[in-house]
Amino acid sequence: MHRLANTGRCHDALAAADAYLEIARRCGDNRTAHFLLQGKMYANLHMGRFREGAELADRLLNAHRAAGSPMGEAKTLCDLAHFDVLRSRYVDAMRNLARAAVLLDAPHPGRNRRTSALCSFAEAATAAEMYETASATYDQLSEATSAFDLVHAMTLLYWGLRLDHIGRHDEGASRLRRSAAITRPYVEERPDDVVAAAMLALALAKLGDLIPAEKLAREAIMPLRVAEDHQPARMAHLALGIVLRAQGQLAEARREFVAARELCEFGGRPDEKPIIRYELARTALEIEESQSVRDMFDAIEVQTRELWRVRLQRLAMLRQARQQEEAEAARARAEREILRDPLTGLGNRRRFDLLLNRIDSGRLAAPLVLLLVDIDYFKAVNDAYSHSVGDRALREVAHILRAHCRVEDVPVRYAGDEFTLFLRGDLTVGREVAERIRTAVARTDIIPGVKLTVSVGLATLTDGMSGDALFRQADDRLYAAKFSGRNTIAS
Ligand code: GH3
Ligand code: MG
Repeated sequence: MHRLANTGRCHDALAAADAYLEIARRCGDNRTAHFLLQGKMYANLHMGRFREGAELADRLLNAHRAAGSPMGEAKTLCDLAHFDVLRSRYVDAMRNLARAAVLLDAPHPGRNRRTSALCSFAEAATAAEMYETASATYDQLSEATSAFDLVHAMTLLYWGLRLDHIGRHDEGASRLRRSAAITRPYVEERPDDVVAAAMLALALAKLGDLIPAEKLAREAIMPLRVAEDHQPARMAHLALGIVLRAQGQLAEARREFVAARELCEFGGRPDEKPIIRYELARTALEIEESQSVRDMFDAIEVQTRELWRVRLQRLAMLRQARQQEEAEAARARAEREILRDPLTGLGNRRRFDLLLNRIDSGRLAAPLVLLLVDIDYFKAVNDAYSHSVGDRALREVAHILRAHCRVEDVPVRYAGDEFTLFLRGDLTVGREVAERIRTAVARTDIIPGVKLTVSVGLATLTDGMSGDALFRQADDRLYAAKFSGRNTIAS
């Protein structure tokens, strides 16, 4: 399906995706279903169906969130941002990119998925002509793989040309030199790599290295046109045009720029047309230094600077969106931190109080059981070993509690060696879980060579019962469990 989409057979790709999606769904194979959705999304991108593509990206985003895949989410946010850019929805685009950037900044073990997400990030940034962002991302990618070297070189190339066009010649030249440094080894190693040759030709032409630029461009044009590889073909025409103009062959130069412009019919990057237009206007001025041509050139120059300014606004928007997303992420982290017991990572007393409040306000309702779990003779562990060994024991018990919870259950370290567990379910469920926890603790070497036990008190939430009453009932039963000899459950 991906191969069909990448070779321009998008309708076939979509049909294949739909057929396989049906099978993947019936098998409950979510990973394949996600992959197929992604393929459909890219097929729509190639077909210029941006609204349909964005809808698929939305669906995929929800699927990644439900599956808890932050790198999948980051990648799809970037793809969605790419569609946003293509639909001129820049506010949405920058917010989605900023969210992706926050996810990408967090440490993550899956290297391949991160690389794939970074690739989508760079592509969306490129579509928005944010060369700085795209280039920094390609720099990161180049640490992992050389697969993106040529797209990076292309970004640098267009960046350099546009800097040159707004009069920042030195900065432009430095980007062009970097681009040439990337493409040159490709051309030297594989002289038939006409794509790299066209890129190198354009950088060299603009840098004034005319002889090799002309040779590379002339040799690349025909094979690229025959292969209908329009974008590098445009670059080769552009390169040859710049060389010919520098040599004073103005009519011939103009023909090359016109050829490049004609190839824009087949689509292309948003920055190509302004670049070609500028080179054409400059050539026109050299052909005929009349007032009307000068006026036209001035108009194009103003427009070039205006487009650059709009591009800078997008960069500022992204920066601002990123600050907002980072602040939001920090706030959410701090909120989680306030409710967390630092020793065990479980909820803390504050979390416990909030849960009781939720019971009182009816937001947490039956069926619900509260388990109170207290370690037996824990003080003796501290006395016989040390406080830090005692801490390790607390962490181990917390680990066992967590292992016996489902996602909707909340384990809390209430105080000292006393834990609580809010379980969704009735008393039977509560007893089963409590018994499993009791035996798991009794069986485990909580610290090497040392076994401990716990006592558990259980209470069930009934209609109209306050959170406090629920807690008192569980506490009374815990006391009863302790009194009846410990290592037991009372309900
Ligand atoms: P019982 O079976 O009656 O529960 O006996 P116990 O020894 O466990 O008694 P109690 O629950 O009263 O004692 C809890 C002990 O837990 C007292 C205190 O030294 C210890 N403790 C409380 N907080 C911590 C902590 O953060 N780390 C460590 N290592 N010990 C703690
Ligand atoms: Mg105790």
